[in-house]
Amino acid sequence: MLLSASTAFAQHLPHEHGVAELRVAIAGNTLQIEFESPLDNLVGFEHAPRSDAERMALAQAEVILKGVERIVTLPAKAACAVLRTELEQPFAESSAGSDSGHAEMSVVHTLQCATPSALTGLEVRLFEQFPRIREIRAERASPRGQVAAKLTPKQRMLSL
Ligand SMILES: [Zn+2]
Repeated sequence: MLLSASTAFAQHLPHEHGVAELRVAIAGNTLQIEFESPLDNLVGFEHAPRSDAERMALAQAEVILKGVERIVTLPAKAACAVLRTELEQPFAESSAGSDSGHAEMSVVHTLQCATPSALTGLEVRLFEQFPRIREIRAERASPRGQVAAKLTPKQRMLSL
């Protein structure tokens, strides 16, 4: 109860630069990893790209987020394979854009794991990929329950 209440509250606050969110859910053989971040954390700006350098930075952030192995390290024994990846970037043609001056990028990876019981924890690699991230607010929901955790460059393990 406490977790869902605080989550609902957080979603109504403006995003905080330096902070990102990670949600991990395990149900049966399915593992879902959802990452959402202020764009500033990923590329250092939140406006539509104005130069080739900015377009390249955006494209590179997309490539990193689309590779689940670039954002987390999973236990090899779990034998997980990606079924589906959905990336949302703010300046796509289909996007309505933002009036707030802020922008976010998010990705959802859905994986199928042959041995989900081996999913005891994961290590986030996001701090190496995006040094502007100083804190990740993580949540996991698994047969072991629902837990919230604060990850930092010194605490990169999330137990599942
Ligand atoms: Zn912002």
